[in-house]
Amino acid sequence: MSGPPVPRSRRGVLASASAAADLPTLEESISHCRACPRLVAWREHVAATRRAAYADQVYWGRPVPGFGPTDARIGLLGLAPAAHGGNRTGRIFTGDRSGDVLFAALYRAGLANQPVSTGRDDGLELYHTRVFSAVRCAPPANKPTPQERDNCAPWLHREVALLRPSLRVVVALGQFAWNSWWPTLTAVYGLPAPTPRPRFGHGELWFAGGAPRLLGCYHVSQQNTFTGRLTDAMLDEVLARARQLAGLG
Ligand code: SF4
Repeated sequence: MSGPPVPRSRRGVLASASAAADLPTLEESISHCRACPRLVAWREHVAATRRAAYADQVYWGRPVPGFGPTDARIGLLGLAPAAHGGNRTGRIFTGDRSGDVLFAALYRAGLANQPVSTGRDDGLELYHTRVFSAVRCAPPANKPTPQERDNCAPWLHREVALLRPSLRVVVALGQFAWNSWWPTLTAVYGLPAPTPRPRFGHGELWFAGGAPRLLGCYHVSQQNTFTGRLTDAMLDEVLARARQLAGLG
């Protein structure tokens, strides 16, 4: 059976990403990527060994594509899938505590049809919003290396390029996502990264003509939500601002 080419290097990622004419094709290509040996080994190890609570489940164990409408006005940019979340379910932010917080907030903001997200067949639909990550494979300790980040960047750049006609605002969930925007700005919009780089902060807004607004939000990680660094009210405020910047009122 033949399928899309399997990228095994950054050059392969670049070629496959550039060749994807639409988002469904891009999603399919991403899901076959093997360009980062350490992450391929990790995602497959986690899928084979599993967490006890999910011992009866078949893990996805592959790269996790973006999720949401292909004409989204709002992009939610995260770091990478979680080992027992997206890497288990095959959908970004789905099946972990971060996703529970995020999708409940999207529902309150009128950007999702339901507040829960448990698996790819759970009926979740997003409105005007697409969720994606800077790195598409779950990394050990949530820490991709600079080379893994760079290997994966062409997937992000192509996803943003394909969303470009509708995309009005990108919410960067955390510093890593915020930093990954600058190469995207250059690759997709042909704009130089600002110097010095604007600092990440919750509620920070950055804008250059011709590009979507960039809005900072603390990551929805348990580290932030359990400690109260990021509350539901703070998340609601950011999403309301994103709606407004996207022209959704
Ligand atoms: S992190 Fe990105 S580039 Fe690396 S193997 Fe996964 S999908 Fe491919």
